[in-house]
Amino acid sequence: MKNKNTAAAVVIAAAAVILLSSIAAVVISRRKPAGSTVEIISDGKVICTLDLSSEPDREITVEYKGRKNIIAIENGDIYMKEAECPDHTCMKTGRLSEAGVPIVCLPNHLIIRYKNGGGDTDAAA
Ligand SMILES: [Zn+2]
Repeated sequence: MKNKNTAAAVVIAAAAVILLSSIAAVVISRRKPAGSTVEIISDGKVICTLDLSSEPDREITVEYKGRKNIIAIENGDIYMKEAECPDHTCMKTGRLSEAGVPIVCLPNHLIIRYKNGGGDTDAAA
């Protein structure tokens, strides 16, 4: 009788370990985004490459022909905080999302985009 109980306990313990490790794997893989490297391109040149997962909150000012763009990094997100451009489309784009479109300021020749998502959509789903 005792042996049966022990065997059952071992099975339950083993199942619990497998379950927990698979949950941990899911949590870890979800936490880590496919790519958190963002590049800022001004007038066709990469002026800044940032790893958002380790970047502190700060602001980056980029100037193009006397017009300023202020890019803000906040809690691992990046967005156009202020822009001296006529349309402000870049500011309306909001935060840069991995799957979404890059933040583009056409008048100021400025692009903020994920480095790994270069138009490639064959993601592992
Ligand atoms: Zn703009």
